[in-house]
Amino acid sequence: MDVLELAKRRGFFWQSSAIHGPISGFYDYGHVGTMLKRKWEAAWRRFFLGLGETFYEISPAVLMPEQVFRASGHLEHFVDPIVKCRKCGHAMRADHILESILKESFEGLPPKEMDALIRKHKITCELCHGQLEEVALVNMTFPVTAGTGKDARTAYLTPETAQGAYVNFKQMFEVLRKRLPMGLAVVGKAFRNEIAPRNALVRMREFTQAELQIFFDPETITAHPRFADVETARLRLLPAAHRHAVQETTAQDAVASLGLPPFYVYYLARIQEFFLQTLGLPPEKFRLKELAGEEKAFYNRFHWDIELQLGIGWKEVGGLHYRTDYDLSRHQQVSGQSMEVGEGRKFIPHILEISMGVDRNIYALLDLCAREEQDRAVLAFPRRLSPFDAAIFPLVRKDGLPEKAREVQAALEQAGFSTFYDSTGSIGRMYRRMDEIGGPACVTIDYDTLKHQDVTLRDRDSMQQVRVPIARLPDALRRFLDGGDLGTLGKPLH
Ligand SMILES: [Zn+2]
Repeated sequence: MDVLELAKRRGFFWQSSAIHGPISGFYDYGHVGTMLKRKWEAAWRRFFLGLGETFYEISPAVLMPEQVFRASGHLEHFVDPIVKCRKCGHAMRADHILESILKESFEGLPPKEMDALIRKHKITCELCHGQLEEVALVNMTFPVTAGTGKDARTAYLTPETAQGAYVNFKQMFEVLRKRLPMGLAVVGKAFRNEIAPRNALVRMREFTQAELQIFFDPETITAHPRFADVETARLRLLPAAHRHAVQETTAQDAVASLGLPPFYVYYLARIQEFFLQTLGLPPEKFRLKELAGEEKAFYNRFHWDIELQLGIGWKEVGGLHYRTDYDLSRHQQVSGQSMEVGEGRKFIPHILEISMGVDRNIYALLDLCAREEQDRAVLAFPRRLSPFDAAIFPLVRKDGLPEKAREVQAALEQAGFSTFYDSTGSIGRMYRRMDEIGGPACVTIDYDTLKHQDVTLRDRDSMQQVRVPIARLPDALRRFLDGGDLGTLGKPLH
């Protein structure tokens, strides 16, 4: 299935400002996509903020002063190796073009060594086969001028939401009564001037991240008070030393055999639980991949990527990063403000970061949930994650059925469900359309509804239908969304 075509046709997402000629790497969400994204973010917040007593969400600005990115290292290190064509001026990621030709990863290789490989293998421009210039490192942050005249200051659109949490650490630590571990979550926009945006929502220049920064005392990394809750969980791991196949390893064994601290493994297990239990994605499409050596940022002591297997291959949709005291130490150094905490023993808290790309996860959901069946296309989203809880259809557009349908819809909205009303077509067509959007349930109002005050409730996946009294519809729908079997919620129709 062509995910992009489906996404556009059914109102999920498409290139931004398309009527004026779009810039690549920017996407707009339509009404259905916005609902899906909102549901995913709500599930993320419920799950990850629920992991700690002192875990909260904050909303920092996205445009921040230059000093922030001197401290974070972005101005110095946030660079991509770019190689330009001498003939046509086309710019390419040097590591990507090497990878596409030599079939191995060259991420993090110094520019001089990339130049040598380009010469050795006589690699030319992917568009015109012209000679290539030398590889140059190009910074990916977006500079902006805030203010005018002598008050003008250089600022940057933040390339990750994390910095918003770090600059607020000290203030939040005071406000939250000086308790560690403390979690600060940010669900917000980030900006990177990617040279080659691609695969739609997978590599964008403006995107949404959901990140949780956990600030903790480094001496507590050898334990987690709730480790017993996860110790027998079988983690789907791809350690750096065994890249050929996923090893199912219990959390306990991951500590023993991979030398990972329990505090770190605890969160690896929770991340897997979020993807497999909360989101309900198929286990065989999920893995946690260890990054080693030059693959990981120099300040990360442990770095495992969250990967999903999509039509375009295994793609990273997030990661768990043990960033040590790098971030707060740097902010302390550049700002001159102390980031130390503790009475008696003073220390700079360490940071464990759970980072996810929201848009990539939305793209992944479409890719993983799309099914082509004999005479219909279905987006089989987990019920609780679907853009709408229920669609409401009048069987025909006359005889008081639309009015009755609007009444039922209002009652469901009142009860807290998100609904979608449609009356433009035959009932068969309306079902097909809802299947393509991924709505889990359809409610149909017909002539019997007027007589008996009941409706037809239809399951997207099995296409089974039951008859449910209107008075009991909110309860039946709630149980259905929680995974209930449709057959137990009303009188089956044949
Ligand atoms: Zn060229």
